[in-house]
Amino acid sequence: ARALVWFRRDLRADDHAALYHALTQAKQVFCAFVFDRSILDALPRADRRVEFIRDSLVDLDAQLRALGQAHGVEGAGLIVRHGAAERELPALAAELGVQAVYCAHDDEPAALARDATVRGRLADAGIVLHTAKDHVVFERSEVLTASGSPYGVFTPYKNTWLRKLADAGHPRGDGFYLRPYPIARHARRLAPRPPAFAQPVPTLADIGFEPTNLHRLKLPTGSTGAQELLDDFLDRIDNYHDARDYPAIKGPSYLSTHLRFGTVSIRRLARAAWDRMNGGSRGAEVWLSELVWRDFYHQVLHHHPRVVGHAFRPEYDAIKWEHGKAADALFAAWCEGRTGYPLVDAAMAQINQTGYMHNRLRMVVASFLVKDLGIDWRWGEAYFATHLNDFDLAANNGGWQWAASTGCDAQPYFRIFNPVSQSEKFDPEGRFIQRYLPQLARLAPKLIHAPWLARPVDLAAAGIELGRDYPAPIVDHAAAREKTLARFAVVKSRA
Ligand code: FAD
Repeated sequence: ARALVWFRRDLRADDHAALYHALTQAKQVFCAFVFDRSILDALPRADRRVEFIRDSLVDLDAQLRALGQAHGVEGAGLIVRHGAAERELPALAAELGVQAVYCAHDDEPAALARDATVRGRLADAGIVLHTAKDHVVFERSEVLTASGSPYGVFTPYKNTWLRKLADAGHPRGDGFYLRPYPIARHARRLAPRPPAFAQPVPTLADIGFEPTNLHRLKLPTGSTGAQELLDDFLDRIDNYHDARDYPAIKGPSYLSTHLRFGTVSIRRLARAAWDRMNGGSRGAEVWLSELVWRDFYHQVLHHHPRVVGHAFRPEYDAIKWEHGKAADALFAAWCEGRTGYPLVDAAMAQINQTGYMHNRLRMVVASFLVKDLGIDWRWGEAYFATHLNDFDLAANNGGWQWAASTGCDAQPYFRIFNPVSQSEKFDPEGRFIQRYLPQLARLAPKLIHAPWLARPVDLAAAGIELGRDYPAPIVDHAAAREKTLARFAVVKSRA
């Protein structure tokens, strides 16, 4: 039988669930990716993620060809199409004459709807769609409470997650779930691409996009790039728990975009962390729990798709956010990094210039938008969705609802980050701020967190005039805090 593997968020050729299932169940296996117009048409013409995907496909194509060659198959490789996936994929499957299509689960609501349509169209042509877990360690209902319901609180979820992984007495315990899907030993079943399907991966221009600054960032693409980042991180992982909260230093792994597009296998990363953790590494233990947060938010989205557009806790939908011209102006200042709070503005400069933002800063700017400016968390969520290279619906929505106190296991609403003390604590020497706000670089570290409190003589000495070189704060934190407590009181009265 012939099969087709449909690559989506799994752009690699090793430890790959769908590819493994196809290679072990069919005699000849084709591999394809569709640049989906239904997603691409809505994006700006220069988008780092499109460039990241395109470059990662070149890497994937080379790996598939090399795998084939190493096992006596000339001309294997990736078939790339450009069009609406709902039509392109079934059409391609029919043209190739396959009996089955294999792909990984994608639990985002839009993806589920697309896959249901594809499944139906394939079925009309007598072709079966097989799907498998690949993107997370545990998905959907694999980790439930003792009474069989989904978890709403992270720590007990994590404890059950870890127990399930470690249970050596269970046939599927002792790391079973992290075993890699071996690809190479079945690679002789990769099919040569028929000549009509053997075009090179399209260029960005071919699919109507322009280059971005991706190559000037420290974000190497494809599985090869993921490997570089992983090697670098594994040298630092034992320090992760100490280093991860300070945006000026290299603390985290920077693997999020690779996890998003599957250029690295989550099982491989979790295995690396788990082994180190079992060897006593505190850093690896803390890092593994970040990977568990990722699974956590994916299962939240699966069980509660209403979180897209709504508060996880419905009573929070009653909150009245600021709106109108004044709110629009505050939101624009936040987006453009003109709030007058240096850490917030530096963080927004980071996302705007690179598509990345450090986790601590995501929490700070999200809290600032919601609890200092009184703006609906969904506005911030949408801004991140268009700007983050690692944008992931489940994690982004979870992060925003956490910061806005509307979500699952969220920050309590009366806990409000103070943007100045966060700055003093997590960027104590102002190094991160200086990197992104060079106009403040001459201000002494102790003054850089709140320039409006500096004496005029100190500002003058640093060559800064507030309002000219750097904005005065657009909001007073203490007053905003009181307003927020009042705003959230509506929830207390309904809870
Ligand atoms: P590391 O610290 O090295 O963490 C390793 C991996 O664990 C990450 O790559 C990511 O896959 C996962 N992870 C870490 N923290 C979280 C978390 N809180 N929730 C879920 N997964 C996590 N992460 C995204 O991948 N995509 C998003 O769209 C996203 N939006 C966010 C929005 C807000 C408001 C907040 C507060 C957090 C968001 N995060 C998101 C989580 C986190 O900030 C990023 O995963 C992290 O900063 C990525 O950098 P890293 O790969 O160096 O992380």
